[in-house]
Amino acid sequence: SQKLAQAASQQKPTFSFEFFPPKTAQGVQNLYDRMDRMHDLGPAFIDITWGAGGRHSQLTCEMVSAAQSHYGLETCMHLTCTDMEREKVDSALRQAYKTGCTNILALRGDPPRDQEKWEAKADQFRYAKDLVKYIRQTYGDHFDIGVAGYPEGCEDQEDPDLLIDHLKEKVDAGGTFIVTQMFYNVDIFLDWVAKCRKRGITVPIIPGIMPISTHGAFLRRADWTKCDVPQFWHEALEPVKNDDAAVRDVGRDLVVEMCQKILDAGIYHLHFYTMNLAQATRMVLDDLLLTPAASGTPIDKPLPWRQSLGLN
Ligand code: FAD
Repeated sequence: SQKLAQAASQQKPTFSFEFFPPKTAQGVQNLYDRMDRMHDLGPAFIDITWGAGGRHSQLTCEMVSAAQSHYGLETCMHLTCTDMEREKVDSALRQAYKTGCTNILALRGDPPRDQEKWEAKADQFRYAKDLVKYIRQTYGDHFDIGVAGYPEGCEDQEDPDLLIDHLKEKVDAGGTFIVTQMFYNVDIFLDWVAKCRKRGITVPIIPGIMPISTHGAFLRRADWTKCDVPQFWHEALEPVKNDDAAVRDVGRDLVVEMCQKILDAGIYHLHFYTMNLAQATRMVLDDLLLTPAASGTPIDKPLPWRQSLGLN
């Protein structure tokens, strides 16, 4: 195992895609077609999320199996503690093991839809670190185990320093890489990475990037994760908010610029929250010259929206 951690620590830029299990059979088929196409972009791996409280959990296992064995994609399965009896966790790990999947992102999980807060029962894991420990005890080094990091706090803990202590516990329990919550302010992210390093966390940290497809979704997701949005992002997007194509163009430039800043800081792996859509992610990767089809377009070209804001 440890392939993902190694990919993320290389000096050559690499990237990965997150997908979630769709609600309908047609949605699943469409996603497989999209996965097949996105395979050609050359991701180091893809992730499949785990439905809150184990909803769609069988589908997650099936998609991991299909991606790994049929589409030949290095796959990482998310696995959560919320509403998961030990038996369900064992079954999911067994299925992942059998299909040749060697990567798990171990999470506490969102509370089930109908509950605001979740309390672990006797035969359940309470924190992600308990799940990490259990996977290590049961499977030795077979799985590369990722854990979640929060540069700007998470819903039930807003103190970033306490969260770094909890992150350290997850890594000490056997986590080999960290994937972050989405963010748009690169300075906050880089400061947080420096704090993690100072705290003795040495495993690769993979930034979670959310491309922009519509103005409404951009605002909703920023609001949902309570992440800081730099003022000039609002100033660039607000004037074009009713024109989806223009939002995608300006959004692409903003996200490309943030990714470039991350790469320039020496962090060489980018993880894209695709939201099961290909276009916005592909546009960003093309501009970063990271896809096979990218044709050498210079990414430091003057961007019209930046000029209009006096930023170039
Ligand atoms: P933990 O690290 O266990 O933390 C949960 C809470 O417990 C935090 O408030 C933490 O501060 C606190 N805590 C931890 N250790 C201690 C301790 N020793 N003492 C006291 N308090 C402690 N959710 C899903 O349902 N499915 C997914 O597929 C999914 N994928 C995700 C992918 C990424 C990259 C990220 C960032 C999040 C994802 N989530 C997913 C959401 C995640 O499950 C929630 O944010 C959840 O609330 C926290 O999960 P965690 O793994 O960070 O939990």
